[in-house]
Amino acid sequence: MSTTPRIAIIGAGPGGLVCARVLQRHGVPVTVFERENDPHSRSQGGTLDIHEETGQVALRAAGLFDRFLALSRPEGQQWRLYDRHAALIRHDRAGEGDLSRPEIDRGRLRTLLLDSLAPGTVRWGHCVSAVTPLPDGTARLHHHDHTTEDFDLVIGADGAWSRVRPALSDAQPSYAGITMVEIRFDDVDHRHPGIARLVGAGTMSAKAGRRSLVLQRNSNGHVRGYVIFRGPQDWHAGLDLADADAVRARLLAQYQGWDESLLDILRDNEGAFVNRPMFVLPVPHTWQRVPGVTLLGDAAHLMPPVGVGANLALLDGAELARAVIGHPTLDQALDAYEGVMLPRAAENAETAQQMLTRLMPDTDSDVAAFPDTQWPSDAHPVHAQ
Ligand SMILES: Cc1cc2nc3c(=O)[nH]c(=O)nc-3n(C[C@H](O)[C@H](O)[C@H](O)COP(=O)(O)OP(=O)(O)OC[C@H]3O[C@@H](n4cnc5c(N)ncnc54)[C@H](O)[C@@H]3O)c2cc1C
Repeated sequence: MSTTPRIAIIGAGPGGLVCARVLQRHGVPVTVFERENDPHSRSQGGTLDIHEETGQVALRAAGLFDRFLALSRPEGQQWRLYDRHAALIRHDRAGEGDLSRPEIDRGRLRTLLLDSLAPGTVRWGHCVSAVTPLPDGTARLHHHDHTTEDFDLVIGADGAWSRVRPALSDAQPSYAGITMVEIRFDDVDHRHPGIARLVGAGTMSAKAGRRSLVLQRNSNGHVRGYVIFRGPQDWHAGLDLADADAVRARLLAQYQGWDESLLDILRDNEGAFVNRPMFVLPVPHTWQRVPGVTLLGDAAHLMPPVGVGANLALLDGAELARAVIGHPTLDQALDAYEGVMLPRAAENAETAQQMLTRLMPDTDSDVAAFPDTQWPSDAHPVHAQ
C-alpha cells in the first residue's frame, strides 16, 4: 500500500489479538479498542482446544506456536463419555506426541497474545458504540463517550453482540433452544476427588436425550463444567439466578434418575451458577462488501460452541492480517479475505448446527435417531457437548 492505513480492531478476544499481532509483525500499525477496563477485569473462562488445521495455523503466522505449545496441555485431549448411570461408554486417550488439539486455558492464550503486542496497542476501557461507513470508503468509530475517530479499516472482532456488525448486516443472534449453565470446581484433586476421577486429565461428557453434563479440566486443579439442556430461554423463571441453592434445586429436578456420582456435579460445585443461553447467527450469515469495514470471529459467524469458534476466530484474524499485508489496496484485501472467510464460516456453521441436533436432539424422532451411546464420529469429543 502506498500510504500506511489507519486500522482499528474492535475487541481484544482471540481473533482481534491475533490479527493485531500478525499486522504488527509485518510493520503495519494497528489500534485495538477493548471495552474491558484492563486485562484482568474479567475471568477469561475455561479451556480451548486449538486445532492443527485452524487455530495452530494462526498461531504459527503470529510466530507464537512454540510459546503456545509450552503453555498448552496435550494430555487434556483425552475424553470420557458416560451414560446417565455413570457407566463409561467410551474413553479416548491422547496418543503419545499427539498435538492435533492441545488444550490451553483461555486466559493463558489471551496473555500470550497480549504480551506479543507493542506496548499501548490495546486501548482498554474503550467501548465502541457504533461504526459508520463514510462515502470516501473510510469508516467512523463512535466511542461510548460520544467522541469519534476515523479509520481506513475498522475490523469488528467484538464477538456475539458486535456493535460493528450493523454497519454490514441486519442479522441478530437468536436463541438456539439450548442453555448452558457454567459451574466450577477449584483444587479438584484434593477437594473433589470424585469429580477429579470423572474428568480425568481432559474432558468428560455424560448424556441422556436432551440433557448433558460436561466437565473440563483447566490448569492448576481447576475444573469448569457445563450443565447443558434443551429448553426455553426463561427456564429459570421465578428464580433468582444469584441464589445458588435455588438454582441447584431447579437443575437437580431436571436430572432426576441420573447416577449419584453425576449429580455431585450439581451438588458440590463452588461459587455461582452462570447462565449462558446459546445464541447463534443465521446460517449463512453474509453481506455485500462495504469499503472500510469487515468482521471476524463470532461477530461474523456466531455458531454453537462445539469446538470451532475460537479456532475460526484465530484463523480469520491471521488471514485478514495477511490479506491486508499482501494486497496493494484495502479493497482488494477485503475481497480476498471475505471471499474465503464467508463460505468457510457458512460451512462450519452448518456442520456445527447438525452436530448440535445430534448431540442435543430436539424432536422425538431426533431422540430416536441419535442414541446417547452413538456419539457422532465427526464430533470432536472434547467440546461436543
Ligand atoms: C461456554 C462456551 C464454551 C466455548 N468453548 C469453545 C471451545 O472449546 N473451543 C472453541 O474453539 N470455541 C469455544 N467457544 C466459542 C469461543 O468462545 C468463541 O467462538 C471465541 O471466543 C470467539 O472469539 P472472538 O475473538 O471472535 O470474540 P470474543 O472472544 O467474544 O471477544 C470479543 C472481545 O470484544 C470485546 N467487545 C465486545 N463488545 C465490544 C465493544 N462494543 N467495544 C469494544 N470491545 C468490545 C469483548 O470484551 C471481548 O474481549 C465457546 C463458547 C462458549 C460460550
